[in-house]
Amino acid sequence: MRVTLAGDELEGFPPPEPAASVRLLLPTADGLVIPEWTGNVFVLPDGRRATIRTFTPRRFDPDRLELDLDIVLHGSGAASTWAEGARPGDEVAVSGPGRGYAIDPDAEAFHLLGDETAIPAISQLLEHLPEVPIRVDVEVAEPDVRLALGRDVDERRHVLPSGSAPGSTLVDALRDAELPAGVRIWAAGEAAAMQRLRRHCFEERGLPRTSATIRGYWKAGRAG
Ligand SMILES: Cc1cc2nc3c(=O)[nH]c(=O)nc-3n(C[C@H](O)[C@H](O)[C@H](O)COP(=O)(O)OP(=O)(O)OC[C@H]3O[C@@H](n4cnc5c(N)ncnc54)[C@H](O)[C@@H]3O)c2cc1C
Repeated sequence: MRVTLAGDELEGFPPPEPAASVRLLLPTADGLVIPEWTGNVFVLPDGRRATIRTFTPRRFDPDRLELDLDIVLHGSGAASTWAEGARPGDEVAVSGPGRGYAIDPDAEAFHLLGDETAIPAISQLLEHLPEVPIRVDVEVAEPDVRLALGRDVDERRHVLPSGSAPGSTLVDALRDAELPAGVRIWAAGEAAAMQRLRRHCFEERGLPRTSATIRGYWKAGRAG
């Protein structure tokens, strides 16, 4: 679900780097309440933790003051449920952007991997990566997910078999992949799968730490 945030408060929002992040503060049952930072967590006036989720700032338009987020509807979860029911005029708050991916200008190839939550970031990376060979592996839970990566690359799409751990097709894809010299890997998805990808890269393949950026974007069974 693409959600477009708009408002004069977006004036001066710094143009996000590719694969950056923003934090989305969701409304409470009483509407949008801006929390206080305790130095450790954001708390609401009633002492509860504020509901904040992280997303990729997919497109920012500084003239129209619009910020697009592409939010995966995964069936449960505060942000997914909010996005599904959001209507024009509903209020949320956003902070950021956080830092994105620093593209190595000396890279000789790129291999990007991710599940649906990483599609916005992968799409952005493809807008910025140099003209070198690029392979993209994307895992989707449903075969009819629309993919518009927007660039002609070696794109491989894997449908997660039902009952398999999220991210497992990405782990298999990287295991079977030939990695060209000078390749840089960027991956994001479910945290345990990303941990397996890290182990594969650094322990089994012996790649230097600087050659792979692998991020847990969500954790199975854990909210927020
Ligand atoms: C830097 C960064 C960028 C991100 N960019 C995006 C983005 O552009 N678009 C996007 O959709 N997400 C993105 N995410 C992931 C997103 O923050 C999480 O999926 C988040 O948990 C969604 O919040 P929720 O309130 O919907 O679910 P939560 O309340 O956090 O979780 C509820 C339950 O749903 C499960 N769950 C959470 N996400 C998924 C999922 N994708 N598929 C299946 N089950 C899930 C949890 O394990 C939990 O059991 C990004 C995360 C990071 C760190």
